[in-house]
Amino acid sequence: MAALESLLESHPNCPLCGGSSRSIAGYEARSPGYYVETLISQFGLDRMAFDRALNLFRCAGCGTLWYDPWLTPRVSSSLYGYLCGRHKFGWASLRAWLVGLERPYFRARPELWGILGALVPNMTDYGEVNCPYGGLFFHLFDAMAGDVNREALARKIPLLSQMYAGEKLVGQYGEAGAFSGLIDDMRAVRENATPPRTFLVREFSDMCWGHSCIFNGNHCLAFAQDVLVDEVVDFDTLRATGQRLGALGLFNVWDHFRDPMRVLSKATDVADVVVIDLHHYGWTDAQHFFNVGDRVIEFLHDRGFNAVDLTPHIKSVVGEDDDRRYLLVSKVLELGMALEETGLAIASPDPTAYV
Ligand SMILES: [Zn+2]
Repeated sequence: MAALESLLESHPNCPLCGGSSRSIAGYEARSPGYYVETLISQFGLDRMAFDRALNLFRCAGCGTLWYDPWLTPRVSSSLYGYLCGRHKFGWASLRAWLVGLERPYFRARPELWGILGALVPNMTDYGEVNCPYGGLFFHLFDAMAGDVNREALARKIPLLSQMYAGEKLVGQYGEAGAFSGLIDDMRAVRENATPPRTFLVREFSDMCWGHSCIFNGNHCLAFAQDVLVDEVVDFDTLRATGQRLGALGLFNVWDHFRDPMRVLSKATDVADVVVIDLHHYGWTDAQHFFNVGDRVIEFLHDRGFNAVDLTPHIKSVVGEDDDRRYLLVSKVLELGMALEETGLAIASPDPTAYV
């Protein structure tokens, strides 16, 4: 049994704003979550002691909820790197798209793309960070694919239906060839269209998937590079080559960095507008070090960013059952004014409200 204290480290400051003024949060973690359950069993931890050790705080400044203590980088990189190396959400999202399942967050995608297109007319270069399956790449593929038969595409990977059946896993290894027919078909669609050039921007994080996100012998990045994106790059390469993006998406990933403001700063340096999607406020499980505060927009204004909360607008379009939050952030666009010019009625909060 591993000593619990050796797996955790103290985090006295808010991971978003750096503030130290805080109170014990009234939000109860719903459960450790699938990933931390695995950590507890693999490390032989005492479940009750683990639950008791993690205190959840609320930042007095930006409202961010975070755990103090939380996993050390070494432990979180084990968790995300190989104990739970495959990101369930990402592959499930690929499967749902291929076989035509309904997901509330799918409905937000055309609206988000429409807003980005209105803010950055004639966008030629679009990127997303780290996860290739959580954002708009499938929507872009659909937009260029016309009447492509996705059911036929899905049949190229018959084992998709067994994705999470553990007893089938042994039989799945060595069947990477199942992907090849799908890759050929999806490539053919892209070669016959003129989409925006797409980039997957990789940024290391010890609390994000990436090393081992493999299904049927295929890494999610390899598959994405074959059929969804034109280039896999990092921020340094974008800056070194002077490659600027019209928009950059952080879908399900901004709360998977220990230092989210450092990453946002890089993102807004290389892109005119950054779109972020987040778990709804108050959603906490022990897999996530923090849940971004309910005063994030005011905080970003205070730090000199243009920022708008798109959530009410997206909900008004796609319905309440999409419980995610959607933010727009920019260093170069006056978003409130730009959105007004697009004719979209999206309210911007009072920038003086954050103190
Ligand atoms: Zn804070």
